[in-house]
Amino acid sequence: MIRKYLSWCLLPEKARNYLKYLERSQWFSQDELEKIQLKKLSALLNYAYYNVPFYHRIYKANGVHPSDLRELDDITKFPVISKSDFKKVFPKECLGKTYGPKDVVYGQTSGSTGNPLGMFVGKDKMYVRQASKLRFDRWAGLNPGERFVLFWFPGYKKRLISKIKQKVDDVLSNRLSVGIRYIDECKIMTEIKRLQRFKAKIFRGYPQFLYIFAKYISENNINGIKPSAVISEGFLLLNGVRNYIEEVFGCKVSNHYGSVEITSIAQECSEHVGLHINAENRFVEILKDGEVASSGERGEIVVTDLENYAMPFIRYRMEDIATPTDETCACGRGLPLIKNIEGRIFDFILYKGKMFYPPHTIFYSPQYLKSIHNYQIIQNSPDEIEINLVADNELNIDPIMKVFTESFPDMKISINFVSSIAPAPGGKHRFVYSKIAVN
Ligand SMILES: [Zn+2]
Repeated sequence: MIRKYLSWCLLPEKARNYLKYLERSQWFSQDELEKIQLKKLSALLNYAYYNVPFYHRIYKANGVHPSDLRELDDITKFPVISKSDFKKVFPKECLGKTYGPKDVVYGQTSGSTGNPLGMFVGKDKMYVRQASKLRFDRWAGLNPGERFVLFWFPGYKKRLISKIKQKVDDVLSNRLSVGIRYIDECKIMTEIKRLQRFKAKIFRGYPQFLYIFAKYISENNINGIKPSAVISEGFLLLNGVRNYIEEVFGCKVSNHYGSVEITSIAQECSEHVGLHINAENRFVEILKDGEVASSGERGEIVVTDLENYAMPFIRYRMEDIATPTDETCACGRGLPLIKNIEGRIFDFILYKGKMFYPPHTIFYSPQYLKSIHNYQIIQNSPDEIEINLVADNELNIDPIMKVFTESFPDMKISINFVSSIAPAPGGKHRFVYSKIAVN
């Protein structure tokens, strides 16, 4: 109780107040929410046009001006931006003129999306990110200070400072971080004992890890692990995986959608009929062949972060697929719904009878951010890995080869330069594709 009170007190006042606002505005009608979006979109376009060289240049080249936005539908006049557009000009042309190095937090897309990108978030708007995440967390019953477990990918060769920071964050947020680099019975059992001792109310994290633990717990009849809710985030949540996790843990899974560059885009409420968009801060479009998709029609997700002025993301291609719907939710919230999110598939690599995540984080190191545009790691057979890179010709592949041969010493590793990597059927990108591992 004291911990929960303290956690609320430790939240910045701006975030607390904004959360109070979001908990009111989620009940606004769709019309009211659209008025808020139009006002914010117009202000953001104006700022970007006059203060962010990248947007000034591309809007001029496309013959559009912020004053062309009179209603929300006019947004389609403005060009859609992709990660590769930003990569060509980052950081020089992306930072708003009114922001200096001390006013921003540097981040980097990682893990789930592949094709990494450096990015900035204005410190002045961090409270929006905090409050938006908290509102979604509270839908699943996770309040600040509440005991929760984070299932995640721990990464390779983490620096000591990151390890210490993680431990401090664990203690401050009453969190248990559970991460495994490969699937090994002994390791899973150690983590399960930690789960039994920790007795968390909420589990959150990557669905594939939640699934692996659920499977082990079920198959070995392990008791004493009973969360009241699970939040799946970071990767595609397959229906079979959701059903299995729900069955084993005896509680509902809430699907969350967001990314490092644009956090807290959408999440399911307790009705689980679709994901409600964080519409006060994110303007989400679902496009089919460049046009707005109709209700029930699959299309690509394009998002505008209405609040990050430091490095505006306006009509940003998420490289995922979803279906918009006109359905309203029984919960009564006015926040619009999207359904059936597809995208982001990572397989494991099967090595010496164990399933490993390959050391793909090497592609996110600053030295490769500009030179590697896309990648795919393919396991063709038990002893062969092929890495396809869409990269600049002068790229030195020796360090990449070294990391992979150290991780999988007995395997044949090959690196190929390719001009493009085709998405898997259905438009999903498979950054790690194992032809032999069962995922
Ligand atoms: Zn709802």
